[in-house]
Amino acid sequence: MSRYCILLLLVGLASALTVPLAGEQAPFRLDTNAPADLPYEHSTPSFWMLGPNANPLAEAGSTGAFTDAADVCIVGSGMTGTSAAYHLANAVEGGRFPLPEGKERLRAVVLEARDFCSGATGRNGGNLTPFEIRGFREVEKRFGREEALRYFAIEHYSSTEMARIAREGGWADSVDLVEGGHVDLLQTEEQVDELWADFDAAVAAGKSTNVSWFSREEMNATYGTYNWGIRTPGYNVWPLKFVTELFKEANSTTDKLDLRLHTQTPVTKVSPLSLHSEDKTSFPTRWALSTPRGEVHCSYVLHATNAYASHLLPHLAGSIVPVRGQVVALRASAPASALTKVSWIGGVGYWFPRPVEEDERPIVIFGGARDAAGPPFEVGTTDDGSVNEAVGKVLRGFLSTLFPTLYEEGREPEREWTGIMGYTPERDVPFVGPVLKYEGQFISAGYGGHGMPRAYACAEAIVGMIAAELEGRDWVLPEWMPRPFLTSS
Ligand SMILES: Cc1cc2nc3c(=O)[nH]c(=O)nc-3n(C[C@H](O)[C@H](O)[C@H](O)COP(=O)(O)OP(=O)(O)OC[C@H]3O[C@@H](n4cnc5c(N)ncnc54)[C@H](O)[C@@H]3O)c2cc1C
Repeated sequence: MSRYCILLLLVGLASALTVPLAGEQAPFRLDTNAPADLPYEHSTPSFWMLGPNANPLAEAGSTGAFTDAADVCIVGSGMTGTSAAYHLANAVEGGRFPLPEGKERLRAVVLEARDFCSGATGRNGGNLTPFEIRGFREVEKRFGREEALRYFAIEHYSSTEMARIAREGGWADSVDLVEGGHVDLLQTEEQVDELWADFDAAVAAGKSTNVSWFSREEMNATYGTYNWGIRTPGYNVWPLKFVTELFKEANSTTDKLDLRLHTQTPVTKVSPLSLHSEDKTSFPTRWALSTPRGEVHCSYVLHATNAYASHLLPHLAGSIVPVRGQVVALRASAPASALTKVSWIGGVGYWFPRPVEEDERPIVIFGGARDAAGPPFEVGTTDDGSVNEAVGKVLRGFLSTLFPTLYEEGREPEREWTGIMGYTPERDVPFVGPVLKYEGQFISAGYGGHGMPRAYACAEAIVGMIAAELEGRDWVLPEWMPRPFLTSS
């Protein structure tokens, strides 16, 4: 098949998909196949990056001694890369990651182009929402019943595990983890019917569901908007703080992992090394990562670079495509008690009020409105150093129209920023697994606008795959892992 035909096929797949994402609802057309740039040097600071001690690891390891060799090199310090470090620590400690005889510590290094966690994770909408029923029929039609159940199971698994770790670590409050539930706002009767059909399909498939249905009157009385809605379980969180704590957990869980972090260290190239180690106490060194600070020699490489993956893996250009999203932090005009703690998706975007005292007026994090940008809908850009005015205008006006008693018309946001998502031909179906034909390289990337309830589990799968390879056995698919996510599919 010619390259052009493949592109047409990918465009067809992308436009055929209608499952809405937490992070994005606007049109997506895959019309670029240029490799992504490296992350922009001067990005718009997000709400999450501000404030005292918001990013204590921001510049960690950016100067001083440099790590020139590691068993596992993780490129990218967002939710995926940091989760991988966390899972490595636990697998090594629990004896689930084999070390060669005589080797006492696994060496891992995280290389980050900019500040720690300054990619999509550090600039997203903060919703940790496992979809409950939305899109079930579509997913079942595409992948079959078993995979549809897994497609939803991975989100439930990731988010409940993330909440458990934060609670057990005693840092759930300090990362503002709120189990406030999630509301899908429905503005037409057709939307209500669609969700009922998804609900029926999910129940028929045997999925356990936790859904409360609200009439327009009930929504108005409870949430201040005369629309229909459903409420399902869901969390919101300060993502950068969560990832910082997760990194600290990874670094303190075990003595058997020597974990290093080098921020402001972009990897510019991955090259094969002909030299294989004869040392029986170490893994064979296969790849050299080029950085402005020197080379790092690695046995395994994990591409946790999401939207930027095709910079180092140019053959993925057009398969993982950068798409820019925009977010504002807007002060509500009513107290937290009136806004309640739920997060929302509906209309042009997604939003949630930040946790504050009941009588305080919260900042609301609100993102979306990408369709206001017009073609090509922010597809193909890695510029998170500027914002789109047309998108910003819609973000400013939407909430006051929908909830006139809770938001003031014309109020300027306290902060506005952009971030780069990674979309795949099937929009929100990531690539997870070995990078085909590059022995020892793995990838987990391309979650669309909905990576928070997936990246953690996908990184766990990658660590399991590497461990299985080292033990010379087949990797066992976890019950929550959808096969369509796997690079082997
Ligand atoms: C505006 C916006 C809003 C969103 N809202 C939500 C939401 O509310 N809920 C949700 O579930 N999802 C949301 N998402 C999606 C979610 O944030 C992502 O899917 C998720 O954070 C991806 O995590 P990651 O670690 O794979 O990628 P990233 O967080 O992007 O991390 C990749 C890292 O790799 C680094 N990097 C890239 N190339 C190199 C290189 N060559 N060398 C070294 N480092 C490199 C980058 O600097 C970056 O820090 C949103 C995304 C955006 C942009």
